[in-house]
Amino acid sequence: MIEKIKTLAKEKENDIIKCRRDLHKHPEPGWTEFRTSSIAQKRMAELGYTITMGEKANNKDYMMGVPSEEVLKENQQRAISQGADAAVVEKMTHGYTGFWADMKFSDDGPHLAFRFDMDSNDVTETSDNNHRPNKENFASVNKGAMHACGHDAHVSLGLAAAEIIAKIKDSLKGSIRFIFQPAEEGLRGAMPMIKAGACDGITHIIGMHIGFQAGDSSTVICGADKFLASTKFDVTFYGKQAHAGAYPEEGKNALLAACNAALNLHAISRNGKGTTRINVGKLTAGEGRNVIPATAELIMETRGETSQLNDYMVEETKRILEASALMEGCTYSIKTAGGSSSGQSSKEMIEFVKEAVKYVPEYKKIIENVSFGAGEDYASMMSYVQEHNGIGTYIQAGIDRYAGHHNDYFDFDEKNLIPALQTAVISAYLILKK
Ligand SMILES: [Zn+2]
Ligand SMILES: [Zn+2]
Repeated sequence: MIEKIKTLAKEKENDIIKCRRDLHKHPEPGWTEFRTSSIAQKRMAELGYTITMGEKANNKDYMMGVPSEEVLKENQQRAISQGADAAVVEKMTHGYTGFWADMKFSDDGPHLAFRFDMDSNDVTETSDNNHRPNKENFASVNKGAMHACGHDAHVSLGLAAAEIIAKIKDSLKGSIRFIFQPAEEGLRGAMPMIKAGACDGITHIIGMHIGFQAGDSSTVICGADKFLASTKFDVTFYGKQAHAGAYPEEGKNALLAACNAALNLHAISRNGKGTTRINVGKLTAGEGRNVIPATAELIMETRGETSQLNDYMVEETKRILEASALMEGCTYSIKTAGGSSSGQSSKEMIEFVKEAVKYVPEYKKIIENVSFGAGEDYASMMSYVQEHNGIGTYIQAGIDRYAGHHNDYFDFDEKNLIPALQTAVISAYLILKK
């Protein structure tokens, strides 16, 4: 059966390249994946999967950093004009772009889930003629958006894996679920899907990323720990305007409150229990030279090696924001714009993947586990499954990259997707085989 899976995967090469290039040409940032999601839903339904989508698959109370209704509407129109199914797009109104697709094999057996992310980055793709997507006419046509992280490849891999699984379903038991997640960038898309039930009843979960810490196409990483827990905040300070020359004492200076906050947030004491991070990434304040600034906005994030360490950073952040506002007689509001828990792969799950990659000779260097050291909201899904007595891991499949992730020259050799596809499907087979 494993040889059959490998052959079926090889036969998907042209399709997977075509799909990846189509998605690359039409990138969609978080919560606007209307076209991507509609194409993927249509394909999964054709393959015989049962779809859960729209408001049922995205709990709106947990959706953060969603664009305005106006921007969402524009993007729905754009998606339809680029070939998305209008009726499906309509059901994703308000940004409900995440969905999952199920196939049941038997009443007994494991319930395996794969998670693939769909969103693009806020990056403008280079116009350099030497950049392959420009040369071969699949560069982004959506202004300010680019698949610079490889999520176009992830969706293509998910659809190809689902097709092979459907072809070998008679040899499998239990069930499989493919979770297509929106808004991974900014760590926003996983939690609304978890809260909608995406991971309920799942006993095994696999997340996958191309490239990243796996240096080149000869390398595969079977597991990861030390996903940094993270929280993203949008903070606004409110003061009072006044004439800066005549009546400065009547003003309340929101700019100073924000500056005090920025300096002191970065001065939060390090924690002896492990690694923490903080960053104030953007500060905007004030209106004019001779006006006491009445508003200031901070865009910031905290991180921690464990969820507890991140909680510590969040608590300290709130204390400093409050004290900084108080110092200037201002008030403030704080809005959570994203976040994820920490996480680590389960040993038993790493073993399945290690076994699977033995059959993929392209991988000469097999790394069991790495320290991730960044945020990935898949960690929330994996932790949820583990807290409910399941197991999970995160695979990084090496690719030969032309530039790093989130770079406007990001591109890779698509032939590398076949070993990644084989790894995914063989892992699934080892877990679900009769
Ligand atoms: Zn990314
Ligand atoms: Zn990514």
